[in-house]
Parts: sequence; structure tokens; C-alpha cells
Amino acid sequence: MPKIIGIDLGTTNSCVAVIEGGTAQVIPNREGGRTTPSVVGFTEKNERLVGQIAKRQAVTNSQNTVYAVKRLIGRKFNSSEVQQAKEVLPYELTASENNDVRIHILGRDYSPPEISAIILQKLRSSAEEFLGEEITEAIITVPAYFDDIQRQATKDAGKIAGLNVTRIINEPTAAALAYGLGKRANEKIAIYDLGGGTFDISILELNDGVFEVLATCGDSFLGGEDFDQKVIDWIVAEFQRENGIDLRSDRLALQRLKEAAERSKCELSTSLEAHINLPFISADRTGPKHFNKTLPRSKFEQMVADLVEKTVEPCQKALWDAKLEPKDIDQVILVGGQTRTPRVRERVEKIFGKLPSLEINPDEVVAIGACIQGGVLKGEIKDIILLDVIPLSLGVETHGGLFTKFLDRNTTIPTTKTMVFTTVTDNQTSVEIHVLQGEREIASANRSLAKFELINIPPAPRSIPQIDVTFDIDANGILSVSAKDQSSGQEQSVKVTPSSGLSGNEITKIIDEAKFKAEEDRRQKENTILRNRMGGLFQSTTKTFTEFGWLLAENDQSFARDSLKAAKKVFEENSEGEINYKVVMQDLEQAASLLTQAMFSSQASAGDKGSQASKPESDDPLLSWLNSSTSSDRSKK
Ligand code: AMP
Repeated sequence: MPKIIGIDLGTTNSCVAVIEGGTAQVIPNREGGRTTPSVVGFTEKNERLVGQIAKRQAVTNSQNTVYAVKRLIGRKFNSSEVQQAKEVLPYELTASENNDVRIHILGRDYSPPEISAIILQKLRSSAEEFLGEEITEAIITVPAYFDDIQRQATKDAGKIAGLNVTRIINEPTAAALAYGLGKRANEKIAIYDLGGGTFDISILELNDGVFEVLATCGDSFLGGEDFDQKVIDWIVAEFQRENGIDLRSDRLALQRLKEAAERSKCELSTSLEAHINLPFISADRTGPKHFNKTLPRSKFEQMVADLVEKTVEPCQKALWDAKLEPKDIDQVILVGGQTRTPRVRERVEKIFGKLPSLEINPDEVVAIGACIQGGVLKGEIKDIILLDVIPLSLGVETHGGLFTKFLDRNTTIPTTKTMVFTTVTDNQTSVEIHVLQGEREIASANRSLAKFELINIPPAPRSIPQIDVTFDIDANGILSVSAKDQSSGQEQSVKVTPSSGLSGNEITKIIDEAKFKAEEDRRQKENTILRNRMGGLFQSTTKTFTEFGWLLAENDQSFARDSLKAAKKVFEENSEGEINYKVVMQDLEQAASLLTQAMFSSQASAGDKGSQASKPESDDPLLSWLNSSTSSDRSKK
């Protein structure tokens, strides 16, 4: 059986693993490294360098050395993320015709998937050499909050590298698989993943081989690179203070600074101070300038405190969504090289009230998890089920512009749910299904994913047709929505990818905004519901009044007429006032009840007298004010 490899395609480093003889193994690269720097260099002679060798020549060839390409994958050139990256990346970024970001190297434009493919190709050939066979299948991991475009772009990178990407899985989920393999206990675990460019937190429940993601949260623009930048900023400021020279405008110097910053940051994970020595970093009329200073860990910790703090809120959100408290978490697993910083570990311990587990290597755990998932797909590893979740709620737009949720955020996938809907007007022969994603009660405040129409519904009075709408999400997160009219069997469906186009930050923003606007939405929703109910009651009471209004005593007749008039006015003015709806609704209900009473007592007295009371010839005076405008009100949503 051909092998399937698991790849952690990291911002800074990548790692590849495979199942051999039933156990997961990290595959070393040709240079013997267990991880490979995600760096690609191009030389003037048109050579391509990948990994450690590319990283090493970056200082002297910074403009032609691409690192952190994961920050660019699947992004538009004018997005804030790319504009921000442009400030710090030494290589040139341009825009394609579609405004996708491109990397301009030695007169040629490369797409981020092309560059990622070069890294994947290196990992693939390492695996082929190690295993002695051709490899064509892979599982690749991505941050949990990568949107559909980023996932698709990662898949494309695999394709370019000659790999069929069988599954894209979330990095924290992969880490949980690696941690939980072989453990049968019932445990709740938190995966705290701070890598080179992204932060993810996931809460999972492991239960007898079932891995269920309870909640995920994160920040797709927070990682080790930001820690490096803090050190770079410190060096630049210190240097400028002492020499009056701004190193920021010197690309070559900046590249050296970056290397030194990362090195000292890593050093500070084990030492209390790091010596930063950059001879000949610049020069002026007075001669060459050097940078030679010691960065104490305490100073570094002060500098990065705000970055570490930024990880706290997503952790609290994830716990809240999972309906758990820190004390309910049995294990905290650290993933990503940046979690080696002691300050990060201390903060994690404080958040969850327990020491994080040190049992697995944070650099390798994701690739190991990916290959375990490969093993599950190939049937080499049994008794493991992986249950992932959707990041935002999904639903449809309903009458009056409301959002009716089908699936709450963090619902486990795969999943399916059907709800029954009906028509709002008489003889309505089509309905529009508008699929949305978000947390707001008002449809227009959420993100539109797709729209389609179900047509040829047999004509019937409002509320009679029964339309089944089904949401179905598969294991890859692809959503299918179908609508079926029960009486005619007419069916229509559409496929969408719910996460499309949203970054982790956007998702967090949407959730926050929904909480903030909850009260406003509630009021608007209540009014819409009242208005919808009033619509129905207005139509039926008008009908009854036309038929039986003459039975009412004179003062009741004018009360009913006034109530109908008031309801009509509220519709015509499209009034949003809460009081208006409530008062008008109450009067309308009373008018309907008076009419019902009058009908009953007239039937009873007719029965007593043995004959029917007769209706006057013309009911015109009762309805003269309604006439034409009634029908237009009916068709209004
Ligand atoms: P990853 O994406 O998991 O490869 O994480 C890479 C990030 O971890 C980079 O920003 C590295 O600089 C950082 N990193 C690696 N080793 C250490 C260390 N010992 N201490 C602090 N940060 C580290």
C-alpha cells in the first residue's frame, strides 16, 4: 500500500512524518534536521535553495530569499495583513491582475502556493529518500482559523509539488491526535499553539478513541515573528540612540538584525541574558559602527508582555464556548516553537491553573498528528475518530430579514440538520434560500454564503406548503444546503464552504460584535416577529370583518374598523417603533376576538330562532377605506 505522509507546513519551520510499522516517525531531511526552515532562496545563477541552506544565505541575499510565505498564502495584495507584512519582509511583493499577492524575485512573479510547493517538494523528496519509494499522497495541516481560500491555496501548493492532498486538517487537532494516540482515558485537553505566525487555541475531549473538538479560537496574525520584531525594534532604537543612524532603511542590516533577534530570543528561553553582537552593522563618516549589547531576559519579557497577553482572551473565549472552566481541563499541550519562551509557559500555567505537559516535542507534534490522520484514512490505525467543529453559526434568512440559525458555532462536524419552512403569501410559487454565516439575529448583519431559489411550488394559501431545508456538512467542512417542497417533491441544492474568506481575527470580531449588538438585534427581531404576526392577523381579521363585521354593535364595529386602520397605517409607514406594534397588535387581537364572539352568538341565536340572521346587501361602508391597498400589503414581506 502506498504511504501517506503528514506535513506540518509551518511559517518558520516545516516537518514531515510517516507511520512506519504502526508508529509515527519524524522523517529527517538530507542535512539530518528533523525540521526544515520554511525558507526558499533564489540565486543569480537561477538556483533554488530550500531549508537551512536558504536560511544561511539570507543575510547576503535577503531580497531573493522568501520566508514566512504562510503569512501571504491565499491573501489579497491590498489586505491589511499583506500591507503589514510588506513593511517587514525584505523581498518585493506585487499584485496579480486579480489583486492576489505575488512575490517578485529576479524579474519573475511567484504566487505563494508556488513558493510553498518548493518547500513541500523538499519534504516530499526527503520522505522518498528515507522510505525508498515514491510518495504522492499527503495530509497537510493548517491553522484552525485558515479560511477556505487559504486552505485551497495550501492544497494547490501540494498539487504543484506533485502531492495529492487527501485531507487538510487543523494544526491543534493534529496535535491532539498525537497526544491522545493510545490513551483510552476520558480527558479534556487544551492545545495552546503559538508558532511562527499564528496563534490557535483548541479545547478537545478525548473519549475512548474519539477526539472531539469542543471549541477553537485564535489570532491568525500573532506568532514568533512578532516576538522577533520586538527585539529588532529594541536593537534599532538602541542603535539610533547611540549612533543617530536608522537601521530600518538598510535592508541588509535588517536581515542581519532579524537573524540575531531570533537567535537571541531562542537563547533567552534557556539563558537569563543574550549577547547580541553585530559588527560592522552600519557606517558613517566617522567609520564603521557595531552593535554589541546584552539583552536580559527580564527586559525581553517586558517587551513581549503585550504579545503574550493577546493570547489570553482567545483562551477564555474557547473555554466559554466549550462551556468549561479552567479547572475542567486535564492537560494543556504546548505546540509551536514560540511556546518555549518561559514567559509564555508561565502565562499558560496561570490561564489554566496547571503546568503544561512537556511530554511531546512542540516542533514535531503537528506533523506526527497529521501522519496519524493519514494512518486512520489508510486503515493502518484503527479505533480513532476525529470530530472537528464549525467556527461560526450557519443558517438562513427568514421572513422580515431575520437570521434563523441551523447550526450553532462549534457544532461538531460532520453533521446534518433539517428544518421545515413555509410560504408567507398566498399562492407563492417560489422561495429564496439565502444561506448565511454569523452570530447576529439580523440576516443582513451576517455574511452571505449563497443564495438559491426553489421554484414550481404548487399554489396554496400562505403557511400551507411544507419546505424541508437541510444543512449538511462533511468532514472537510464543506456545506451542502438543499430545499425540498414536501407536496411536489421539487428539490434544489447548493454547495458552499462556510469558512470562506474570513480570517481568525474577523471571526473573533464577528463574535464580539454579535455580543455587543445583541440587545439591538433582540429588539429588531421582536418587532419583526410582531410585524409578521400582525400581517397574518390583519389579513384574516379583514376577511372576517368583510363577512361578519355587520354583526357587531355599532361601537364595536368602529373599534374594529379603527384597529384595522391603525394596523394598515403601521404597515404603510413601515414603522419600527416597538410600542406601535405592541399596541396595534393588542387592538387587532381584541377586534378579532369581538368578531369571533359575534359570529358565535349570531349562530347560536339563529339556531334558537331556527333561521339564519341575514347579512345586509352591501358591506361597502365597512370596507370602503381598505380596497386596493390591501392587496399590496399582502404581498409585502
Ligand atoms: P513553528 O511555526 O512551530 O516552527 O514555530 C517557530 C517559531 O518558534 C519561530 O518564531 C521561532 O523563532 C520560535 N522558536 C523556536 N525555538 C524557540 C525557542 N527555543 N525559544 C523561543 N522561540 C523559539
